[in-house]
Amino acid sequence: MDTITSTRSLCVFCGSREGSDPAYREAAIRLGVLMARRGVRLVYGGGSIGLMGVVADAVLAEGGEAVGVIPDFLMRSEHGHRRLTEQIITGSMHDRKRRMFELADAFCVMPGGLGTLDETFEIITWKQIHLHELPIIVLDIAGYWQPLQALLAKVISAGFADASILDLVSVVNSPDDVLDAIATAPSIKDGVVTSHL
Ligand code: AMP
Repeated sequence: MDTITSTRSLCVFCGSREGSDPAYREAAIRLGVLMARRGVRLVYGGGSIGLMGVVADAVLAEGGEAVGVIPDFLMRSEHGHRRLTEQIITGSMHDRKRRMFELADAFCVMPGGLGTLDETFEIITWKQIHLHELPIIVLDIAGYWQPLQALLAKVISAGFADASILDLVSVVNSPDDVLDAIATAPSIKDGVVTSHL
């Protein structure tokens, strides 16, 4: 079985706001449509607002499956989505991230704020220490994630990590490339490790 057909669930991290560039929203809609058409289930933060809500609505409108994972105390402020295939309510933010991780076969990072950064760095660093080997696709819309790429380059040039940390993520510029990038994501089996491991 190839990686795309075995990618039953894609966990998408993205903003609880839509951001200022309409390209972010357009990309979220396109990604949701493609996931539904390819039979890839969405796992995400469970809100109905921001890019989160946009991608979930696109998946559902195209006949796909969307599973939300949201802490009970955020159901109101993040407007917990009421029409999902399944909405999993957790007791804490940590439980939310653990459940999202358990349900995912791969991750996609879309533009977002501090919450998106938190989720993204956790899943990248878990991969660095070999807690998982799942593909992590950074969807760089309109250059949004270029500062992240510059930061990783700085981490390497300043001697805090090996250049092979770049293999932890795959960067694409279009939602049309996300599912193919999952299939070609580099293996990190014998590669990236932290310097002290
Ligand atoms: P933001 O990118 O700040 O709009 O947030 C995107 C999503 O990340 C929202 O659903 C936030 O609730 C969520 N989030 C923020 N911080 C955390 C955290 N520490 N653990 C889990 N989810 C978080």
